[in-house]
Amino acid sequence: MNGTKFRTDLEFATEMDQRDPLGHFRHRFYFPKTKNGEESIYLCGHSLGLQPKTAQAYVEQELRDWAELGVEGHFHARNPWLPYHRLLTGQTASLVGAQPGEVVVMNSLTVNLHLMMVSFYRPTKTCHKILVERGAFPSDQYAVESQVRFHGYDPDSSVLELTPRSGEWCMRDEDIELLIDREGESIALILLGGVNYATGQAFDMEGISKAGHKKGCVVGFDLAHAAGNVPLHLHDWAPDFAAWCSYKYLNGGPGCVAGCFVHERHARSVDLPRFAGWWGHNEATRFQTGLRFHPVAGAEGWQVSNPPILALAALRASMEIFGEAGMDRLRRKSESLTGYMEFLLRHHASPEFSIITPSDPRHRGSQLSLRIRRRGRKLCEKLAAEGVIGDWREPDTFRVAPVPLYNSYRDVYVFVQCLAAALAE
Ligand SMILES: *Cc1c(COP(=O)(O)O)cnc(C)c1O
Repeated sequence: MNGTKFRTDLEFATEMDQRDPLGHFRHRFYFPKTKNGEESIYLCGHSLGLQPKTAQAYVEQELRDWAELGVEGHFHARNPWLPYHRLLTGQTASLVGAQPGEVVVMNSLTVNLHLMMVSFYRPTKTCHKILVERGAFPSDQYAVESQVRFHGYDPDSSVLELTPRSGEWCMRDEDIELLIDREGESIALILLGGVNYATGQAFDMEGISKAGHKKGCVVGFDLAHAAGNVPLHLHDWAPDFAAWCSYKYLNGGPGCVAGCFVHERHARSVDLPRFAGWWGHNEATRFQTGLRFHPVAGAEGWQVSNPPILALAALRASMEIFGEAGMDRLRRKSESLTGYMEFLLRHHASPEFSIITPSDPRHRGSQLSLRIRRRGRKLCEKLAAEGVIGDWREPDTFRVAPVPLYNSYRDVYVFVQCLAAALAE
């Protein structure tokens, strides 16, 4: 599919959809309907992924076992609840390029970031800074600032922001590495998004991990916009930790359980400070009282509470589909589909909008962020009324993601037609 010369006519989109080996996966998801009862052009998988049609059956299975078995379901449900989270371990590990012991599905994203910082942000008088992206996602910003304050430091002097060059929207790899090299001695933790939520820029996570570790910094990634979107090799890239939510590209459903990665080299670091709970404790003695906390080895040792089974059940439905489709094939289609969208947008180039996401596929995932010069919010509302769904961010950014698992070339074609028509008005 890659290397295909794109064309601007609708027949091209139709041909590409007919040849798409992943095209049938679209029918495994529910699409919100327009007023006329048609499937909408849904380009918002970066915010909330669509519902797999099998999710309901997965959830109903657990509701049924709960109804029929009550507390016995912990041991005797068709999929016993006690080890239920492990049903997700294999697929999660392969999705992020980790070993099974390095990942766990638990809590929500911001909670996991806090738990990770409790263990891995260990500021000292001379080394207390956290390096983040400028305009990081609000939740990450609050989490980081509150951690800094929790340790008695001042965010003004302890939060260091990566900033693009003036007149640019995205960060350059060499600038990031230069900053780490220059300031590394005072940086306790580097915490960046793997893919920036606003610009859609994908960072060189391997390079950043290497540069950070060379300077003695701890390195963590927020993979909210990267998991299920771009290829990840966390074990080999070797950051210390990572966390991601599962309701964006992973289609787990609103507020679904998040993921967490702790590199193998910390698997048995029982001396790391951590906020503990019974689910992170040695399984053999989990139900006993009067014991010292003894963490399970690996990422599971950071669990706090018993997990929400109904949410995990919904996530299983989607992870099964990811397993079938495979990240390699998804990535190949993603590069093609996003390249096609960029091609069509450039064909309709106008001073009314620009694309701020990098053009190089290695520096982006599915998402394109468009800067709309005038009346952007109105324009997005108009598109939404026509059944074309993207995401508007004040003051001027329209974010759209053609998701390879369920979006088609025709979706992209129709979106660009509607956008161009609205811009021309
Ligand atoms: C979506 C997103 C979040 C959301 O955090 P929750 O804890 O899941 O509510 C946080 N950070 C980033 C970068 C995100 O993209």
